[in-house]
Amino acid sequence: MGTFKYLYGPVPSRRLGASLGIDLIPKKICSYDCIYCQIGKTTHLTLKRKAYYPTEAIKRELEAFLKDPENANRVDILTFSGSGEPTLHEGIGELIRFLKGLTTIPVAVITNGSLLWDPQVQEDLLAADRVVPSLDAAVAESFRAVNRPVEGLTVTRMIDGLKAFRKRYQGQLWVEVLLCEGVNDGERDLAALKKVLNEIDPDRVQLNTVVRPPSESSARPLSQARLGEIRDYLGDKAEVIASFDRSTLPVYHQATEEEIINLLSRRPETAEKMSQSLGLHLHEVEKYLTELLREEKVLALRRGNEIYYEVKR
Ligand code: SF4
Repeated sequence: MGTFKYLYGPVPSRRLGASLGIDLIPKKICSYDCIYCQIGKTTHLTLKRKAYYPTEAIKRELEAFLKDPENANRVDILTFSGSGEPTLHEGIGELIRFLKGLTTIPVAVITNGSLLWDPQVQEDLLAADRVVPSLDAAVAESFRAVNRPVEGLTVTRMIDGLKAFRKRYQGQLWVEVLLCEGVNDGERDLAALKKVLNEIDPDRVQLNTVVRPPSESSARPLSQARLGEIRDYLGDKAEVIASFDRSTLPVYHQATEEEIINLLSRRPETAEKMSQSLGLHLHEVEKYLTELLREEKVLALRRGNEIYYEVKR
């Protein structure tokens, strides 16, 4: 892949397959400041929608990438995400519609769901094949504790937005619930979540926990066993997001993984330094690191405000 500023990957994603990421938001602009965020602390907490990156420049990159059949053939899905909340970009609707006119590859949006009460945001996402909003808590205190939203954004407003969007949206709606031990996994939390999820009636409910080094060390993971119990409690649509099946990983993925291991065997590095040395987008590096951490091939160590990775020996 050539040098692209707004695109990263394709990288294997646990839930989407080989995903080309489209980064719509600079680090770290978001409507939340989640304690588990792996991108780091939100430096600009906002609900303001605007063209954080120029829409036309993103279109040009997408066109350049997709016109090469070799690129297009190794992508299962085009995914809007970002180093923050992608629906804050006012051009997201235009970009989704642009892609739908350009390719048959499905389009997904991974969003924190916090702007779905806005009819314009709802409209913007209607053309996507899959929308994956977060819903980490349905109890006000837990919502504030885990997502630390921008002032004025209440859990009721967010949930009403999700429900309203569900009514209009014909595509696949997969709700992700990220649980942190002792923060949003209490009995009251789970009962409230179950009720709201039944009302929203998404196509899937994906349970996740803290798998990458979080923004706050207070964000601790649940065990696989506990996640399994919660899945059973939430019902048929719930699933624990499974580890990516390594046997399906393409060759280029394994080569990049080797490069990362080689780099880290020389000295510990931050994800940002690795991204510069390897010429990979930060998100791409982070996705590889997630797999390597899960497989216990690398370790994450906090030094001051930075997280360093090193090879586990
Ligand atoms: S919504 Fe996503 S990007 Fe924003 S703080 Fe939470 S995890 Fe990070």
